[in-house]
Formats: sequence, structure tokens, C-alpha cells
Amino acid sequence: IDGNIQEDMEKLQNAFPGFRHRYRLIKRIGEGTFSTVYKAEDLQYDRYDNSWDFEKETEKWSAPPLKSFTTQSSMTLESTIGSTPESQQLQQRRKPKFVAIKKIYVTSSPNRILNELELLHDLRNCPSVCPLITAFRQTDQVIAILPYFRHSDFRQYFREMTVPDMAIYLRSLFTALSFVHARNILHRDIKPTNFLYDPATQRGVLVDFGLAEREGVDCKPCLCHDDPLNRKNRLRAAHHASSAPHNGYPKQDTRPSRRANRAGTRGFRAPEVLFKCTEQTTKIDIWSVGVILLTILSRRFPFFNSADDVEAMIEIATIFGQKRMRAAGQLHGCMFETTIPTIGTAGFSLERIILWSTCRSDGGEKLSKYEQMAVDFLNRCMELDPGRRISADEALEHEFLSLGAE
Ligand code: ADP
Ligand code: MG
Repeated sequence: IDGNIQEDMEKLQNAFPGFRHRYRLIKRIGEGTFSTVYKAEDLQYDRYDNSWDFEKETEKWSAPPLKSFTTQSSMTLESTIGSTPESQQLQQRRKPKFVAIKKIYVTSSPNRILNELELLHDLRNCPSVCPLITAFRQTDQVIAILPYFRHSDFRQYFREMTVPDMAIYLRSLFTALSFVHARNILHRDIKPTNFLYDPATQRGVLVDFGLAEREGVDCKPCLCHDDPLNRKNRLRAAHHASSAPHNGYPKQDTRPSRRANRAGTRGFRAPEVLFKCTEQTTKIDIWSVGVILLTILSRRFPFFNSADDVEAMIEIATIFGQKRMRAAGQLHGCMFETTIPTIGTAGFSLERIILWSTCRSDGGEKLSKYEQMAVDFLNRCMELDPGRRISADEALEHEFLSLGAE
């Protein structure tokens, strides 16, 4: 292990009194914008109910209440130690139990950290969502303890996936989303590194609720959520306004600037996020799943590779074309205009895009029957209009995902 990592691991072990009696740090497994994650062995896992054992009953996943985090000002690990010869013997006989220790950067706001832990606690019994075992705080440092889930790097397996493999993968992801969305929670950062998947067992768990939010918090009404009649009238008015003559970009723009939650990862952001719709719903997660499926079908990762939101908009517009982008913008009271020559009026079908990406467009090749089924499903996930986009529950009923049913 490289010296810096070793040093960080030492620091973590020293920060929490009693750490070494409770956990044996093994290696660093992830480093992101908001946290560092380590694999560790839980030396006293039998002190908790061990229902988080992935290999056993996944339905009974549960975590003890977050008492230690929310009500005690400073929880030390020492109070949970006291290993007896007896328990040591037990440990020797048992298979080691592994946990993932997520060290949340101290620069994250306390509200953000509490939000993540509370949401995980709310979601503790949801299949395919990685449960929280417990969490500890020492002064400003918070660590979350999760069951370790064996998984492979997406880039290692996505090119080999058959259409039924894709259905199994997505069924698992949509199962998680169906529970998350039923609790009115938006994950906001759906992407391959946040869905841990083991191709060998074909099981996956959703992780990383660091950007998740409850639906409806901090939202202003947006056109895309009007009732159908209201929406039709307002769309007509917006269309009328945008077809009126105008001379390029306004010099003195008096319109109020739009601010909306733009959390998430470039390339996976839904069009309504790019259009800065103020009332974002669980449908933004569905779009992101669509981007994952497009990546797998086109065998290209990352599929979208934009540096900012404007580039992201250009990439989406290149596929969907000006006409559909204009209609999508109007839903959120935005005008979509461009002089970029590669953005055509009609755009391309996702079928075309996939045939191109997989070098099958020359000989007039067609998608297989299964692939066509996947593309029909993809079209439902990548609906520009969030109101028409498929929901997680509807997705689980779709014929494509039934290919992945046991
Ligand atoms: P971040 O907010 O830094 O992205 P994540 O919760 O996404 O934090 O974790 C980062 C990485 O750590 C994941 O992409 C994954 O590789 C690894 N990881 C997180 N949780 C687990 C877990 N329960 N089991 C195994 N690996 C995990
Ligand atoms: Mg992550």
C-alpha cells in the first residue's frame, strides 16, 4: 500500500479511540469528492445482530437505530469494546465479516452528513439498497459503517453484457429505485460507481446518498408539473412568445436568473436539471439509468463527456434534435436556440446512435429482437419530458425487465 494511504489509515485509526479493537483496516477501496472508503474486517460483528450478512437473508436487512450518532454528543468506540476470550474463540471459528468504512470529509457540512445518514436510516430495509450498520463521530470526523459488498468495476464487464444480463442489472437497480422513490427520496447521483454490481452473482446494491434529497424540498412550481389542460395552454403561450421576432441574445437581460439544484454528475444529468427546472422529481434518477443503459448498448464509456452544462446540453441536443429540445425547454419556460450546424432539426433515433456506436451502420444492419426491446425501454427512460418518462414501478413491469426476472 502506498505511503500516503498508509498514513491516512493510521490517522483514521488514531482518531477514534478503540478503533483497532473493533475494526481491522484492510485497504482503501474508494476515493471521491466527498469521502474516502476503506475495506475493513469487523472484529466484533456478533455484537450487532448480523442480519446484514449479504450471503444470508437479504430481505431481513436492518441496522440498529442511529442513537449513537444523533443523540450522543460524542460516541467513542471504547464503550463497545471488551473482547472476552470467549468471543475471540467465536471469531476464530467464523468467516471474517467485512465492512466498508466511509470516512466523510470534514469539509462536508454537518447538515449534509446528517441528511445522508438519516436517509440511509430511512432506507434500511429496502432490498438492493446498501444498509447503514452504524455511524460514529469524533469531533468533526464522521464515519459510516456499511456492509462490504463485493463488486467489479463497471468498465471491466459492461462490454460483455448480453441483453438478458442488462435486464438483470437494471432490474436490480430499479428494485432499489422503486423503494427509494416510494419514500419520496431522489438519489440525484445515479451512475455506475454508485451502483455496486457483482457480475458473478448478478446482484447489486445502490450506495452513496450523499446528494440525495427528499422530493419537494425547496421546489417552486414548474410548467412540467401542471395538470394537462393548464399545461397545454401555458405551452401554447410559451411557444407563441418564442416564435415572436427577436434579435439574438438580449443585451440587457432583465429576466430573473434561474437557480436550481444542479447536484449530480456531468453526463448523467437529466434535461430538466440542465434547463434548471425548479421542481425536480424522482424522474431525474430514471434519466440517469437511461444513460447507463445507453452506455451499455453502445459499448462506450463514458457515453457523454461534457465539461459543463452547456456542453451537456449540446450532446443531448445532437441526439434529440432542435425540435424536440425546443419543446423540452418550453416545458420549463426556457427557449432552446442554437446555430451549431451539427445539431439538426430532427436529430437521430437512439437505435441509429447505437448502431453507429457499435460500427454496424454500414451494411444496413439491424438491431436484434432483444436489442430492439432494450431500445424501446431506453426510449421510455430517456424521455425528454419528465412527465412522460417511465417510473421505477412501471419499469419493473416492462417486458424488457421481465427478461431479468427470476
Ligand atoms: P463518494 O461520496 O465518495 O462517491 P460512495 O459512497 O459512492 O462515496 O463510495 C465510494 C466508493 O467506495 C464506491 O464507488 C465503491 O467503490 C466503494 N464502496 C462504497 N460503499 C461500499 C460498500 N458497502 N461495499 C464495497 N464498496 C463500497
Ligand atoms: Mg459515489
